[in-house]
Amino acid sequence: MTALRLPEKIRVSVGSAIVLGLIRGKLDAKPTTIYLLTHHQGKCLANCGFCPQAKASKSRADMLARITWPAFPTEQVISNIETLAEEPNIKRICIQALNYPNVFNDVFALAEEIRSRTDVALSVSCQPFNSAQMKLLAEVGVDKISVALDAATKELFDRVKGTRTNSPYRWETQRETLLKAVQVFGKNRVYTHLVVGLGETEKEIIQAIQWCTDCGVYPSLFAFTPIPGTALEALPQPSVTTYRRVQLAHYLIVHGKTRFEHMKFDEDEQLIDHGISKRLLQRIIETGTPFLTSGCPGCNRPYYNERPGGPLYNYPRQPLPDEIRAIKEHQI
Ligand code: SF4
Repeated sequence: MTALRLPEKIRVSVGSAIVLGLIRGKLDAKPTTIYLLTHHQGKCLANCGFCPQAKASKSRADMLARITWPAFPTEQVISNIETLAEEPNIKRICIQALNYPNVFNDVFALAEEIRSRTDVALSVSCQPFNSAQMKLLAEVGVDKISVALDAATKELFDRVKGTRTNSPYRWETQRETLLKAVQVFGKNRVYTHLVVGLGETEKEIIQAIQWCTDCGVYPSLFAFTPIPGTALEALPQPSVTTYRRVQLAHYLIVHGKTRFEHMKFDEDEQLIDHGISKRLLQRIIETGTPFLTSGCPGCNRPYYNERPGGPLYNYPRQPLPDEIRAIKEHQI
């Protein structure tokens, strides 16, 4: 493929911009991945109900999740990445993409330029590209690809980002794209997002985690976060207790310690038995590992879902002993 023009500007998450020395600021937790977002005049073509970038959202144009993404000249950003690439704390670069005409060209040009100037592992998080496009990304050196399901069931998907939202996304296409991505990139190099708190039951989202895992797709967990100006601004965040149960089930499934079919749920489809012994479960909880941010290796996404004052749904660093004690009190 002939070299494509690099987009003039790119958005950088505020935490990554501080790490890269593009702006000054203090960080409670440093991101270990540099998060980039394609820059586009106007909003996304899609209309995901939770997203400030959605075409019908009235939120600020520089927001994604609950953080801001100031724009910088692309050359300046890549040059700072190049300078800092040897830092051991920078483990990965993640290019996230809005949906707009020719977005693939921007993503490809960015990936090619970054790859030619650093060896840092590179992920792309995008809408469904076709197999030929995904193959080009793999060939240029993209290490992991992520296509977001977000919702645990078709009904919820249609309501939140599919047929009922004036979005181009379809549940079947999204799942088929994940399967095609596994063919192109290989198992365990394909990721998706699952958002807890969109209206699903614990059983439904845990079943979705099992489906992804069985397909060779790693599901990254997010806690729904209401953002002013979005269609879902009035929906509350999920309870921390539910989130902890789902995180624990996620850990057990993706590490092959048990399966959805071995778990038990009550009449409200709330998880009541993780399908392993209580002793083993306690040992796993005490490691704190199930409660870390889940995603590509090196991704810690500090404060995507939470205020620095808490509660911390995803820990961007190892939970402290007091925090593990508090987690145990959540009766998971
Ligand atoms: S595709 Fe991504 S950026 Fe666009 S509305 Fe959906 S979540 Fe937001």
